[in-house]
Parts: sequence; C-alpha cells; structure tokens
Amino acid sequence: MEEYVLYNGKLSRQFNILQGVRQGGVLSPWLFLLFIDDMISELEKLSTGIVIQNLFVGSPMFADDLTLMSRLKRGLDNMLVQVHNYSLKWRLTFNEKKTVVLTFGEKRDNISAVTNRRWLIGGKEIMEKSIWHNLEKDWHTDVSSLIPILEAAKKGQAIGIGLANLGCRFNGMSPLVATKLWARIALPKMLYGAELWTLNREKLSKLEKVQNIFLRVCLGLLSGTLGSAARGLLGLWTVGAEIDKRKLLFLRRLICASEDCVHRRVFMIRLNRWRWNPNKITGFVPDLVRILQKYCLWEYMDNFLQSGNFPSKSEWKKTVIENINHTEIEFWKFKTQRYKQLGLYSQVVKEPMRNMWLQFALENSEMAIQVAIIVKILCGSFYVNGVRFAGGKTQFHCMSCGNYYINPVKHAMLHCCETQLARTKLWERITYFFPVEFVVNINSLDEGNLMQTIFGNMQFVQGHDNNQVQNFYIIVAESISQIITITSYIDIYLDSETSH
Ligand SMILES: [Zn+2]
Repeated sequence: MEEYVLYNGKLSRQFNILQGVRQGGVLSPWLFLLFIDDMISELEKLSTGIVIQNLFVGSPMFADDLTLMSRLKRGLDNMLVQVHNYSLKWRLTFNEKKTVVLTFGEKRDNISAVTNRRWLIGGKEIMEKSIWHNLEKDWHTDVSSLIPILEAAKKGQAIGIGLANLGCRFNGMSPLVATKLWARIALPKMLYGAELWTLNREKLSKLEKVQNIFLRVCLGLLSGTLGSAARGLLGLWTVGAEIDKRKLLFLRRLICASEDCVHRRVFMIRLNRWRWNPNKITGFVPDLVRILQKYCLWEYMDNFLQSGNFPSKSEWKKTVIENINHTEIEFWKFKTQRYKQLGLYSQVVKEPMRNMWLQFALENSEMAIQVAIIVKILCGSFYVNGVRFAGGKTQFHCMSCGNYYINPVKHAMLHCCETQLARTKLWERITYFFPVEFVVNINSLDEGNLMQTIFGNMQFVQGHDNNQVQNFYIIVAESISQIITITSYIDIYLDSETSH
C-alpha cells in the first residue's frame, strides 16, 4: 500500500505504508484492539497495576492514548519496561515528550523525593509534572489546588464580557433575558467538571464574584451592591447552589451506574469506608454527605444504604431542585434582611424570583429606563442628593430644598419641595384615571406602606382590577424616575469595577 500527502494543492512523493490502520475505516478500531489487546493482558499479568475488586484498571486506554496506573514507583517502572518491550516487538513508538508521570495523593513529607526520582521508558527520560492536559481536562496532582477554580472563574468572566458586548448590560437588553443567557451559556461552561471540585469558602467566593459582577453590569448597579439583592430580582441561585445541584445529580448517576462500572465500584468502596470510619475519611464522600444534609436529602442516601433503592432520574431531579430552592430562599432572606441598605428592598421584594418591574420592562420596552432606576433605588445603589442610601440614622441636608432628612429616597418621593410639582402631577393622574375606591385605598396608606406600594409591593392594592394595578405601576414608574432624576445625578456609565 502506498500513500502521499496533499498540501496546498501539491502532492508529496509517494511512500510505502508498512503498518497502521485506515483512518475512519470500519474495521480499524477492531484491528487496533486486536493489536493492542496482548499488551494489556501482559500488563495485567505483571500484577503491579491497580486492581479494584478483582478488576484490573491499571491501563485504561482512550483511542491511542494509554495511561498506566500503579500504587508504587517500582510497579510503574515494571509497567514502563513491559510497554517498551511490547513496542519493540510490535514496532510501536512511544513519544517520550508526550509522556508524563503524575503522582496523586502523595504524603507531604515525601514530596522532596520527587526531585530525586527518575522515570525512564526505553532508556529515555520522562518528566514528572504536577499538571497535565489530557482528554480535554487539566489533571492537577494537588486536588486542593486553586488553579482550576481560577481558570473556571476566568472562563466565566470571559463569557460574561462576551455577553455584555452582545448587549447584556445596563441600558442594553432586558436583565431577565441576559440572566437566561447567563444560565444557559456561561454557567455550564464555567462549572464544567464541578462535580469533582473540592471547594472552600475562598474558592467559592471567587466564583460567586464572577456571577455577581455580571448581574451588576446587567442591572447597572454600583459595585459593592449585595449580590443577593441582584439575584433576588432575577430569580437566580448562588453559584454554590448550582455546583451542589450538579454534585447531587452526579451522585445518582454513580449510584445507578451498572455494578461492574469502575467509577461505581470506586464510589461504593469509598462509601463503605466512610460508613465504618466517618471521621477518618476526607474528600468526595464526606463532601456529598455534607451537601445531602445541607438540603435535607440525607434520608434518600440512608434509604439507599439500607435497601439499595434510589429515586428515579426525574423524581430525584425534581426533589433536588425543590430542596435547593427552599434553602436558597432562606439564605436570600437572611442576607437581604440583614442589610439596612436593603430596607425598602426587603419590604417590597418578598420572594427571590423574576421581579415584576423587570417583567413590566420586558413587555413595555419604553419603560426600561424607568424600571432600571427603580431597581437601582431598591438595591440601595443610587445617589439621591449626592447621598447613597445606607439606611442609617445620619441626618442629611437637602441641597435642593434646604430641609433635613434621614432617608433620601423617602425625602425625594414624599417631602422635598423641589419635587412637589412632579408629586402633584402624579396624584392628579391617579385621581383622574382611577375609580374612587382605588384612590381612597392608596390615599389611606401611611408613609411607610405608601412607599412600599409605589415601589412594587402589591399587598395593599390586592383585590383591585389587574389592569388597573398594572396601569397604576406604569404611571408610578414614570413619576418615580422623574422625581428621582430631579434630585439626583444618575450614573448611567458603568463604574470601573463593573466594566471589566
Ligand atoms: Zn429636599
């Protein structure tokens, strides 16, 4: 058989093919397996490779990629010799430059040995590395390394910037649509392989920050605005919850894999070790146990250990999502109710879900800018009279009307002389357009409830016609943005922290 190479329209000289299989040929994989099968059984006979419950797993292969696994240096040395001999006999070549040694789980005080030991294949030296890229994945010998997390964060950031360039930013497309793109595109890429991450607070906060910055860019919020506030308006989970979900779904895949699968065997061995010695085991299993307990899902695992039964795929997914959601709502309430800056927010936004204001803006595009202003006020991410509402007891002096106030938003909306005309117009429109019962109802609210109502808490306008309520909010949105614009300067431009 002869072959030549076609490159840039030119043919190379012909050369003979003495060995190999045809690319894309139907028989090729079988022929290759036949060819390589003996090597694997020779390696198995050496009995220095790793065995899991009578199953030899010392030499997993993927196409022409070969991995050798042993618990001991001597064991791997023997396997390297064996592989080299096989390659001489059957005219294979191993590229020692593309061959590396990785050592996992080595004791700390043994690390100095790394610099002293050598690895050879057929007399040629191969390097020992701490990171290696293979099969589309970076393999880190230090499993607690921060590097994979930083890389994931970088990936998320890059996609975030890409989405911002597409229009996912303040005064761009609707934040609700931007959030959907984030959840469908950025999260899956950023969290690829998250099932096996071991996280701590530091790592997690790096990932949360990426999402928080993106959400702040979408909503046009100032840096330092609480991420929970933004998430609550968009109906999004924390990145931590997203990762936990992936881990819990992965758990079912492990449990329900066929019994002779290697990954299931490894999991069951670790699970049993953990059962006998829960305090001595670290890593994957205790991490899962902690997550199951966190979301009140332990009973399912307990039941599996007792009876071997586990919920069906759809049932498990539904339960996982429900329980995580429940815990996320509690966490969101805890976070948002603690911050004085979010006083108005927590009176108005009762559940973390797609916010009604944003929904309005999605349906009536002419309201987008007004809604954006309301969202900023709610999140305490706005300057009124040069003051960012911090919810404290400090008195401020109004530059517009000369009076003193504590709450800048309330002052502008209800008391400032500067905004009196805009306020009068609002009430004029309300009395003109709405039936008398509705006007009476609004008029009977005390200051606090009135503020809550105009900023979107529908509790006090319940029972009125839906169209009326919606029209009320359209009028109010116009008025709020008018009043606030009079008394404030709006930072339409993204500040430096949120623009990168
Ligand atoms: Zn004033």
